[in-house]
Amino acid sequence: MYKKIYKAIKKYNTIVIARHIGVDPDAMASQLGLKEAIELSFPKKQVFAVGTGGARFAYLGSLDKLEDIDYSKALLIVVDTPDKRRVDSPEVDQFAYKIKIDHHPFVEKFCDLEWIDDRNSSASQMVLELLYKSKLKRNRSVIEKLFIGLASDTNRFLFNSDAVTFSLLSKIMKEYSLDITKLYQNLYMRPLHEVRLQGYIGQNMKVTEHGVGYVELTSDILNKFDADVGSAGNMVNNFNYIDEVFVWVMISEDKKNDIIKINIRSRGPVVNKVAEAYHGGGHKFASGARVTSLEEAKLLVNDLDRECQKYIQNKEVDENENQ
Ligand code: AMP
Repeated sequence: MYKKIYKAIKKYNTIVIARHIGVDPDAMASQLGLKEAIELSFPKKQVFAVGTGGARFAYLGSLDKLEDIDYSKALLIVVDTPDKRRVDSPEVDQFAYKIKIDHHPFVEKFCDLEWIDDRNSSASQMVLELLYKSKLKRNRSVIEKLFIGLASDTNRFLFNSDAVTFSLLSKIMKEYSLDITKLYQNLYMRPLHEVRLQGYIGQNMKVTEHGVGYVELTSDILNKFDADVGSAGNMVNNFNYIDEVFVWVMISEDKKNDIIKINIRSRGPVVNKVAEAYHGGGHKFASGARVTSLEEAKLLVNDLDRECQKYIQNKEVDENENQ
């Protein structure tokens, strides 16, 4: 697979790297890290990293405006995105050749070459593996970006971090002695108003019978805290490890786009199937969805409550069998 990807990169002089809409650090870091590595290896190639950015992740670098390119001679590499509808680039079908590099569970095939590894911690780790197993070059800036993406998606190695992850980290630390403290500053620094919103969420989280914690953040509330629809997504991981809560859900009203954005996290029950039923998807324990009303959001919460109930029942059966 690494060889095939390298060969395609070598073959095309124009390369566009895209990732999913609703950018996050892993998506942007894997995109920009790969772009820099390709430019380092092949200085004459034209490489574009496309999509809508977020001021929040400006420290990772900037995105490109796609100039007039001849799509019929260009390669598209899509990172961190399982399905076509979530690719933040409108021209997907026009490219001569397409490659997918993704760690989400499989949703659909839309590229010629697809490297999918849903047990991998992050798209950034996959790009790191590609760099270490192919002739692509790397430097400190590339590695720092990929480290940030990996650290972010694993929530600082809390999730999906296995022997491959740590052996890669060991390699990059030996080679570059990364200043992790400095890198985390960019990743985790946040404005005081977000911390205040976090306090509001803790105070106002409701919990269903079987352990779904949820909070409704209407646009009035978000405005009151000077926060935006992306804020809840930024802090959703901070609500792990609550005794009474197995699954937690942030429901944020996006008045501008007339949609309600949902962030879902779990410490046991599988949530991505429920998310898929509400115009969403994602990983088993970290998913997102979009609904059109608070009533629909409540239906989603009810469905998640049923998943929690099943999870609790199965856990009890397992515990009884092990006694
Ligand atoms: P988030 O809560 O936005 O951080 O998203 C968690 C995970 O769910 C990420 O892997 C996203 O790519 C995925 N995800 C979020 N929103 C959606 C959506 N509307 N459709 C499909 N996947 C989503």
